[in-house]
Amino acid sequence: MEWSIDLQGTLSPLKILNAFWQKPNTIAYPTVKKASVSGYRGFHTNVLKDCIGCANCQDICMNDAIDMIHIDEEFNTKNTSKCIPRIDYGRCCWCSLCTDVCPPDSLKLAEECISVSKYASDFLYMPKDK
Ligand code: SF4
Ligand code: SF4
Repeated sequence: MEWSIDLQGTLSPLKILNAFWQKPNTIAYPTVKKASVSGYRGFHTNVLKDCIGCANCQDICMNDAIDMIHIDEEFNTKNTSKCIPRIDYGRCCWCSLCTDVCPPDSLKLAEECISVSKYASDFLYMPKDK
């Protein structure tokens, strides 16, 4: 039986050292933030001085992601229900139907889309003016 050294096979694990000179494929979030993409459907914003509390956004949401929450502060005298929408980002699929049916066009989707939190309650979000 004849023995031979598989030099290529023996040295191939050392190819990993090439990684030292490669650029990383990830970003160091949160110190580095990814640039937003124009037109991206991110988090909701709501211009509260225009919101009339009509709950159209809640009615259209197929995922039951919107609850109308009563507020004490008066932002708009036309908001007779004194309620504004709260979004559950555990349910939202960013279809944007709620923004389509908003009569005063106060509810919109911003391009910002990254949220990191260890608290589940932070994903119940009351959109405000941007
Ligand atoms: S974007 Fe779609 S799923 Fe999300 S809250 Fe609006 S209607 Fe509901
Ligand atoms: S955000 Fe728009 S659709 Fe929703 S309650 Fe306010 S005015 Fe009505």
